Amino acid sequence: MSPLELLILLGVATFIAVFAAVPIVWRLTRHDRAVRVRMKAARAQGRHETPSLHPVVDEGLWIGCGECGRGCPEQDVLDLYRHKSVVVDASECVGHGICERVCPVGAITLVIGTETRGVEIPRLTEFFETNVPGLYVVGELGGMGLIRNAIWQATQAVRHAARQPRGASEGAVELLIAGAGPAGIAAVLTAKAEGLRHRIIDQEALGGSLLHYPRRKLVMTYPASLPGVGEFPFREIEKEPLLEYWNQLMLEHGVAVEEGVRFDRVERADGGFVAHTSRGPIRAARVVLALGRRGTPRKLGVPGEERANVPIA
Ligand SMILES: Cc1cc2nc3c(=O)[nH]c(=O)nc-3n(C[C@H](O)[C@H](O)[C@H](O)COP(=O)(O)OP(=O)(O)OC[C@H]3O[C@@H](n4cnc5c(N)ncnc54)[C@H](O)[C@@H]3O)c2cc1C
Repeated sequence: MSPLELLILLGVATFIAVFAAVPIVWRLTRHDRAVRVRMKAARAQGRHETPSLHPVVDEGLWIGCGECGRGCPEQDVLDLYRHKSVVVDASECVGHGICERVCPVGAITLVIGTETRGVEIPRLTEFFETNVPGLYVVGELGGMGLIRNAIWQATQAVRHAARQPRGASEGAVELLIAGAGPAGIAAVLTAKAEGLRHRIIDQEALGGSLLHYPRRKLVMTYPASLPGVGEFPFREIEKEPLLEYWNQLMLEHGVAVEEGVRFDRVERADGGFVAHTSRGPIRAARVVLALGRRGTPRKLGVPGEERANVPIA
């Protein structure tokens, strides 16, 4: 074969190879391109980072198996990009922490706040007591989401409170719990089990954030133990039956949540505390704040807005 023929042959072979390779490379990178577009859109709308609970991937640990993305039932939070797990849309995270649990190399942590949009969280002891002795902060208010964490923290806090010298001043309860979400529920059940004289108030009603989940939202949680009750029996349950379960528990244990009572502030008084609420002052030897992080959403003041989950016709 002459050098010219060899050159032509090489040219043709290169041409065919390039022609064949381009569609293959195009197809192989299709997923990454789609993820890149979604990441760009999320970044443009500020959805790539959120001050509420969301996953952070440790690039030093990931192995690119994609288990976290497959485990997360919420769409769009995590995906694989260039063979590594990335957070695409942090705002979609609802904080059930499945990604953290399914990651085989422990590369995922659920965090609150970001480097650029930090949130202030209280400094607490291992019993969730603040630097004011007798004042506890539990659940999401303390910076950590998830129902199982709320239950565990509240249990630890109230058990700790129960181990302190008893005795409340005249007209005071031994424990006031502000907030009746999962943390408040666990706190009041622990108070019952420990024989603490208590009151529990909530500006809305029993259930906490759960009340505001979308209709029939599947709630996922992990084993947790409720004092005086035993093992929390659900791993996956819809919002409505879970609310029913909380209400039933309160009835069975004779706990009455004082609903529609807003906690405004607390101050020291007579060796204990006085909490100022929309229903007047409440005196207590110790106070557990289980207020979550939703704050007090402003209402429109329109008829029917107090009704939960009204389907739109
Ligand atoms: C859409 C969505 C889906 C989620 N899905 C899951 C899931 O599947 N699994 C899971 O483990 N976690 C899930 N989470 C997270 C979970 O709901 C929270 O981590 C958990 O409810 C925190 O419990 P908490 O008791 O600390 O706070 P909250 O549940 O927020 O309860 C706080 C309570 O305090 C009351 N309160 C607030 N301010 C005042 C005041 N000033 N005076 C009186 N009362 C007050 C509120 O009315 C509320 O009842 C989800 C969250 C959201 C938003």
